[in-house]
Amino acid sequence: MAKKKFDLIIRRAFLKGREVDVYVSKGVIAEIRDTQTEFDPEGAEVQDAFGLTMMPSMIDVHTHLREPGFEYKEDVESGLRAAAWGGFGAILCMANTNPVNDTAATTELMLEKARRHWPDGPRLVPIGALTKELKGEELAPMAELVRAGCGAFSNDGLPVKNTDLFRKAMEYASDWGKPVIDHCEDPFMAVGCGVNEGEVSDRLGLQGQPDMAEALQVSRDVLLAEYLDMHIHLAHISCRKSLDVIRQAKARGIRVTAETCPHYLILTEDYLEDPATQYSTLAKVNPPLRPEADRLAMIEALEDGTIDFLATDHAPHAAHEKEVEFDIAPCGISGLDTAFATTWGLVRDGVISEETFNRAWVTGPAETFELPCNRFEIGDPADFFLFDPEEEWEVCAATMQSKGKNTPLAGSVLKGRVKTHFLHGKKIV
Ligand SMILES: [Zn+2]
Repeated sequence: MAKKKFDLIIRRAFLKGREVDVYVSKGVIAEIRDTQTEFDPEGAEVQDAFGLTMMPSMIDVHTHLREPGFEYKEDVESGLRAAAWGGFGAILCMANTNPVNDTAATTELMLEKARRHWPDGPRLVPIGALTKELKGEELAPMAELVRAGCGAFSNDGLPVKNTDLFRKAMEYASDWGKPVIDHCEDPFMAVGCGVNEGEVSDRLGLQGQPDMAEALQVSRDVLLAEYLDMHIHLAHISCRKSLDVIRQAKARGIRVTAETCPHYLILTEDYLEDPATQYSTLAKVNPPLRPEADRLAMIEALEDGTIDFLATDHAPHAAHEKEVEFDIAPCGISGLDTAFATTWGLVRDGVISEETFNRAWVTGPAETFELPCNRFEIGDPADFFLFDPEEEWEVCAATMQSKGKNTPLAGSVLKGRVKTHFLHGKKIV
C-alpha cells in the first residue's frame, strides 16, 4: 500500500479569488492546487468546503480574559472558546486580572488553564504587567515574566503617570526584546468617562473625555520612542488627533506601531444619542466612541498603514455590572465573537481591501509580536478557518461563545460566520 502523503485535504475552498484544494501534511500547508474533478484522497481526511471561504487564523493582541479573579465575567476556557469560534488562532491577554499578572505564578496559571482546556489551541500569550499590581510605582519583574511565557508588557487600563518610570520600563522590555503596549490616556484628563467630550456629551449631560487626552499620551510615547530609539506599540487608537501624531512619527522613522478596534470603525458616539440606544452602557468604552469624522479618519489610517493592525480590546462584563447608570458602569465591549463578521463586512462593502484585512488581523500582529502566522505559503502553519460569506446571524446572548454578552451590536444582523477552524491541521471547532 502506498504511504499516505497528506493528513488533511480541504476540498473546493474559495481562497484569494479561486477555488482550490489545500493539502496539509504534519500540521503545515503542503500544497495548494486548483480543484480537479479527478481526486484521490490517498487516505487523508477530507473536509468538503464547497461554498465556504478560507481565511488564515487571526491574531488578537488585546484581549481581557478575566482569569484569575473575575471568572464570572470570562475565564481562560470560555475566552479561548470565543476566540476559536471567532476565527482567532492566537490571543494575547492583558494583565489586569486578580491577582494582576505580575508574577511567574500567575502567568503559569493562565498557560496551564489554556493547555488543560485547549491543548490544540487557540494559542494563549499572556501580557505581563509593566508595574507591580499595575500601580505605576515599581516595575514588575520582567525577566521572570518573560521566562514564564509573557510575550509583551502593558499597564493597560492604568496608564503609568510617572514618565521616567515608563521610560525605564521601555528600556527593560527592550532588553528582553518584548514590545511595550501603552493605553494612551493622559491620566489627569478625565479618566474612564466612556464618552467623547463634545456636542453629544453636552446634550446628554455626561462628563466627556477629550480626544486630546489620548493624543497627548500618544505624543509623549512617540517622543520617548524616538529619544530611546525603541519600539512602542499604541493600543486601541480612536481619534484623528492621535493619527496625525502617529503619521508624522512614522514619516520621521520613529519605531511606533498602532492598533485600533472594530468598534471605532463601525460605531460613533451617535449610538449614545439614538432614541433606541440612548445612554446605553453597552457603548461605554475606553477610549470612547468618537464622532463620524474620526471614524472615517480611522478607516483611512488603517488602509494607508498609519494604523498597523486591529485588535478587539475584548472586555467582557457580567450583565448586572452593565445594567446600572452610565456614570458607574464599567467600560468595555465583548468583541471576540463579532470582530471577524464586522470587519469582513467592511471588505464586502468595499470600505477596506482584503489585503488590508489580512494585514490587520494576521501579518501585522504576527510581525510586531513575532508570532507565527499562515500566509498560505508552502510550509506555513495550517492555521485557518472556513466561513460562509452568505450566512446571516443575529448577535444575541444565546449565540455568543464569550461569557460577556455586553455588545452594542446586540440585535443587529451580521453576515459571514465561522463554520470550522483548524490549527496546525487539527480541527478545533
Ligand atoms: Zn486599554
